[in-house]
Amino acid sequence: MEQTTTPSRAALELASVARDASTCTACGLSQTRTQAVPGEGSPTAALVFVGEAPGAREDLAGRPFVGASGRLLDDLLASIGLRREEVFILNTVKCRPPENRNPQRSETAACAPFLTRQLQALQPRVIATLGKHALAVFAPTAKITEVHGRPYAQTEIDQHGSAVLFPLYHPAAALHNGSLRPTLERDMAALREYLNANAREGAGKATLREVDSVPTRPRSRTQGEAE
Ligand code: URA
Repeated sequence: MEQTTTPSRAALELASVARDASTCTACGLSQTRTQAVPGEGSPTAALVFVGEAPGAREDLAGRPFVGASGRLLDDLLASIGLRREEVFILNTVKCRPPENRNPQRSETAACAPFLTRQLQALQPRVIATLGKHALAVFAPTAKITEVHGRPYAQTEIDQHGSAVLFPLYHPAAALHNGSLRPTLERDMAALREYLNANAREGAGKATLREVDSVPTRPRSRTQGEAE
């Protein structure tokens, strides 16, 4: 007999975000997208990767990181014994910026409620940002050259919890500048070590207090930012 499992509350909320993103018109990116790219992975993931924005391939596939950067991300995950099905992969904006330009502040701000809902559903222990734009959404003053490859700050998700922000360079940066690749590989190994050191139930919380307690959270339009 075929077994059916009831989707968890997190899985239901993640599916709801995906539906809402697919019809969202909160910013101009909705005019040029083929489809929204909400993100994918395990609804129970303790580790979430946040990239910048979907590119052309992602826009066509409706899935994050399926192009050259995605292949490198898969290799980096494999190098620390993980598959993408075991983590969750998101972007700061769910729709492709035309010509792959960087997302504008107004666009990341318009999309922040989706990111917030996803993080609230997932309640990850660690958020690994990919590149300076994703880092800026959580920690606007941090410089990636100074903070990559280590647990940098504790970022508030909601009243139920917070996660450790672990900034990484974007895989595309390592593809453009080969000398960054060993750094990215070392940083991934550092992430693995950090996860291993915090594998015990409750150990994550102890370590949370040890990282710089820079309070960060995804920035939203309500904070009244100018473009
Ligand atoms: N780059 C990103 O930041 N996200 C993707 O989904 C693909 C490439």
